[in-house]
Amino acid sequence: MFESLTTRLGSVFDRLKRRGALSESDVGEALREIRVALLEADVALPVVRDFIEKVREKAVGQEVVRSVTPGQMVVKIVHDHLVEMLGTASVEINLEAAAPVVVLMVGLQGSGKTTTTGKIALRLKTRERKRVLMASLDVARPAAQRQLAVLGEQASVPTLPIVTGEPPLAIARRALQTARLEGYDVLMLDTAGRLHIDQALMAEVAAVRDATKPTETLLVVDAMTGQDAVNVGKSFAEQIGITGIVLTRVDGDARGGAALSMRAVTGQPIKLIGTGEKLDAIEPFHPERIAGRILGMGDVVSLVERATETIEKDEAERLAAKVQKGEFDLDDLLSQLRQLKKMGGMSGLMGLLPGVGKIKKQMAEANIDESALKKQEAIILSMTRGERKKPEVIKASRKQRIASGSGCSVQDVNRLLKQYDQMRTMMKQVSKLGAKGMMRGGMP
Ligand code: GDP
Repeated sequence: MFESLTTRLGSVFDRLKRRGALSESDVGEALREIRVALLEADVALPVVRDFIEKVREKAVGQEVVRSVTPGQMVVKIVHDHLVEMLGTASVEINLEAAAPVVVLMVGLQGSGKTTTTGKIALRLKTRERKRVLMASLDVARPAAQRQLAVLGEQASVPTLPIVTGEPPLAIARRALQTARLEGYDVLMLDTAGRLHIDQALMAEVAAVRDATKPTETLLVVDAMTGQDAVNVGKSFAEQIGITGIVLTRVDGDARGGAALSMRAVTGQPIKLIGTGEKLDAIEPFHPERIAGRILGMGDVVSLVERATETIEKDEAERLAAKVQKGEFDLDDLLSQLRQLKKMGGMSGLMGLLPGVGKIKKQMAEANIDESALKKQEAIILSMTRGERKKPEVIKASRKQRIASGSGCSVQDVNRLLKQYDQMRTMMKQVSKLGAKGMMRGGMP
């Protein structure tokens, strides 16, 4: 997600940053381009208007004109407003009410509602150690109740026994009764979806809401549906009242507009994002990190978190510390290359590293694949320990030796060193800005 938006904004900012002083018309032109980029990413028009206005107010003010790096300052303003637009970080699932806490899942058919119900139940079970009961109120789709039961078996989370022919409201009451009697902490109710918003659906969901008094009413929306997601969000927020949003299929190539508009249109935060079909493919939504990612500033925190789940924790912490201190060397790059495969593919990971957005594009253009990874690994392995620690010392004659040692050309060696250099520069910027606290959350 967000790839084309990131590229578009990146070129706007590159031009801004190259200028010394900024005039009002420079800023105006940049804002026009940002506006087009957002609209093309499918962000809802009123949201774009409001965003541009807010950024304009700040960006043409004294703050920018007087600052030492006006271009950088505009980027910061855009970043801050992006975070605001995405909503400040929020509690994942509110479990503060008396048990059983009811979580009502609503949304259109096919949005990923049932899958997400299972994902959240598993998450609450494993991370919060909660006893969770799930029940499907979807009697419209014959297989729906069974689908939830299968997910329950996979996640080892109990589901309410199915009684054929029972209407949704009766199932909801029985579920609540069972959860109370059997001492469950959380009751997750998966409601029926429809292909489109209709009044019968809204009335049914409203009746369930009134009977079960949910603490959380989570709207599940598919990020791929763009503008439609926004309309669905608006209807549910107005007619049912929701407490949060789960955006699914964030792993797809959605243009990202839904993510950016949802908060503004519904007034409620995106709490979680679905990143795949598997039951553990769900993550908390971090506005700061997403804004950083959109602006091509990478996402060191997510990178490290994902790394921690795949590789040993120690290694991830060591890497994070090195990135922070700007001490990332070729040995680190080597262990990165080796872990790339483990971590679920290049492209996902590369987008997370600061400054790698551009390199990734170059790599895609150069048609780099797994075999290229092996090549890079061979190049680094042909270097001495000292060279890996301090690549600056590598002279032309050594490059020749390294190339023949690894069966590559000198150009390959140069390319690798250049990539490493770009990564290191970006990482230094990230850690410097992080230390100064110039950006909220340490993003540059
Ligand atoms: P429902 O009709 O809203 O209950 O939707 P389902 O839960 O049955 O999901 C519809 C399809 O979307 C299923 O094939 C899911 O595996 C898939 N799906 C759900 N969430 C995600 C996600 O975050 N990413 C991807 N790639 N697929 C998802």
